[in-house]
Amino acid sequence: IDVVRGVEPRIADAIGAEIEDQRASLKLIASENYASPAVLLAMGNWFSDKYAEGTIGRRFYAGCRNVDTVEAIAAEHARELFGAQHAYVQPHSGIDANLVAFWAVLAQRVELPALERAGVRQVNDLSEEDWERLRKALGDQRMLGMSLDAGGHLTHGFRPNISGKMFHQRSYGTDPETGLLDYDAVRAAAREFRPLILIAGYSAYPRRVNFRIMREIADEVGATLMVDMAHFAGLVAGKVLTGDFDPVPHAQIVTTTTHKSLRGPRGGMVLCDDSLADQVDRGCPMVLGGPLPHVMAAKAVALAEARQPAFQDYAQRVVDNAQSLADGLTRRGARLVTGGTDNHLVLLDVSGYGLTGRQAEGALLDAGIVTNRNAIPRDPNGAWYTSGIRLGTPALTTRGLTADGFDEVAELIDTVLSRTTPGTAKSGKPSKATYVLAEGVAKEVADRSADL
Ligand code: PLP
Repeated sequence: IDVVRGVEPRIADAIGAEIEDQRASLKLIASENYASPAVLLAMGNWFSDKYAEGTIGRRFYAGCRNVDTVEAIAAEHARELFGAQHAYVQPHSGIDANLVAFWAVLAQRVELPALERAGVRQVNDLSEEDWERLRKALGDQRMLGMSLDAGGHLTHGFRPNISGKMFHQRSYGTDPETGLLDYDAVRAAAREFRPLILIAGYSAYPRRVNFRIMREIADEVGATLMVDMAHFAGLVAGKVLTGDFDPVPHAQIVTTTTHKSLRGPRGGMVLCDDSLADQVDRGCPMVLGGPLPHVMAAKAVALAEARQPAFQDYAQRVVDNAQSLADGLTRRGARLVTGGTDNHLVLLDVSGYGLTGRQAEGALLDAGIVTNRNAIPRDPNGAWYTSGIRLGTPALTTRGLTADGFDEVAELIDTVLSRTTPGTAKSGKPSKATYVLAEGVAKEVADRSADL
């Protein structure tokens, strides 16, 4: 850090302050974790300086033999860890992994058949006549994915993301009574809408998804099943989600981030069956810039770590701890979406405390508990203020917190929220953003959490 300080001390200070913040607070953000020193060190090296567009053994640059080694090892670990036919480890993030997957499916299912139907070989500099024929041969690109307020992700066809402009999207939600995914409703929506891609996976759904049933639905309507396992990849790697709940044997294409429950560097990855491999490998330069070889090196290290027996123990503890947190909150009178959890996250409805998600998030942060606000199904406060708080156990489990420790975390959360009241807006009306946390609570909770 002193080397950085010699060049730009403010950045050295920010790095130091971030380490302090992460040590001093309770990190409950469901999408965050702590990567190991081996992962972090594999990322900070001279691979960062190398260009390597293309893929293993087929580069548009000379001198890529070491990058080939790194990419091949990362892909091998990914295939063997997840039991996938093919792995593509270049995506720089989860969004990029999804883009690679969308374009691969579009190329396989729409573009190539359309070129053939139109009898067009050349794709650039098309004559007006060829372009007209190709345009007519292009199909209707539809995607069916989980709604945002049920826990889906923006990249699953929503307008603020490019996926919502590429696809005509419709979403499936959850049962209004139980909050659980209703497979019959998904089937009915798929029959009516007939999507090209049925996408499963979530950012804020606290339950397992049965991918065998999702594949049956996809097959029935001729859709490709894509699963975005960004959030729960660590639970798949750690063999907690197996059988019907493991997406890899069921979906034609699976995407993930590498930095959440999987505990690797920031990045993404695509797994697929052989039929999509060629198209997926065109991710760079189709939608990705040159690969980040230093990050692929760190992915290889993280995937090697995830193949150790200790990672299975970690994944099981992540789920046990989430259940302890959920039970602890419920015992103290809190309402959880779906009534509990069977993965790494808990969605707490804070309306019972008379707060919005934004107020709860702020009060918890003041007390050193880092969370994020999240919409709940049919949220009356919308996506900005929200009525929910999403809590995840991967990071604190990495730090060694046990089920008893998570019961204490439930106690601390309940203490903060019970002693927070909504503030008043300038207009004199109750505010959805400001809050008043009773005096002394922030310090009391911070002191207690330091003992955890
Ligand atoms: N997919 C899901 C389900 C996610 O939860 C996220 C991130 O929160 C992403 C994709 C995007 O990942 P990234 O931030 O790495 O682009």
